[in-house]
Amino acid sequence: MSARRFQPIDSRGRQTPQAAGDAVSGSEGPAASRIHNSSPLRRASLMQEPVLVLNATYEPINVTAVRRAMVLMLKGVAQAEELHSSEVHSSAKAHRVPSVIRLLAYRHIPQQSRALSRKNILLRDRNTCQFCGRVFPGSELTLDHVVPRSRGGRSSWENLVACCYNCNNSKGDRTPEEAGFKLARRPRPFTLHTSRQLMRLIGHRDERWRKYLFY
Ligand SMILES: [Zn+2]
Repeated sequence: MSARRFQPIDSRGRQTPQAAGDAVSGSEGPAASRIHNSSPLRRASLMQEPVLVLNATYEPINVTAVRRAMVLMLKGVAQAEELHSSEVHSSAKAHRVPSVIRLLAYRHIPQQSRALSRKNILLRDRNTCQFCGRVFPGSELTLDHVVPRSRGGRSSWENLVACCYNCNNSKGDRTPEEAGFKLARRPRPFTLHTSRQLMRLIGHRDERWRKYLFY
């Protein structure tokens, strides 16, 4: 397989949870251009709908967008396990849009590939400032390096937490101890448990995901 790449799949600002590890790599290439629809607007939003990606073993490993999922199907990398009622039309025929796809070959997903993103950290921390313990809308939260970057703190799951702007300002370039702050809880690395939770949050409207996510 080609080198794994972990950039967001969704180019429209709705960051897809690389969370479970981007199992699928490669450019969308010519296959993508074969997907057409008479209603560009509707098609655009449909193509961004989330699709659950299962490993060959049926283990849920990722969430991608319809567009990417259909490319994988066209390339013969994945097959649809569950379908939406919606269709997209190519010049030749109509394609049912997938809701769940499964990779045909097993992929080993390395732990470190689990996406570190602002969105995933806010989800892990449940939009709660880890210093004052208050819940905020995502727009009122930032990410704080527990050990500041200037002190060699890394941008990692274990060193980044959700933080309100107030706490972030008063903490400044200090460690929590120096600033007299206490973390609500130790920032945990991304686990299978966390990624399942993220997938459930994303897929909560789609009944077809349930049996694969056990909820
Ligand atoms: Zn705060």
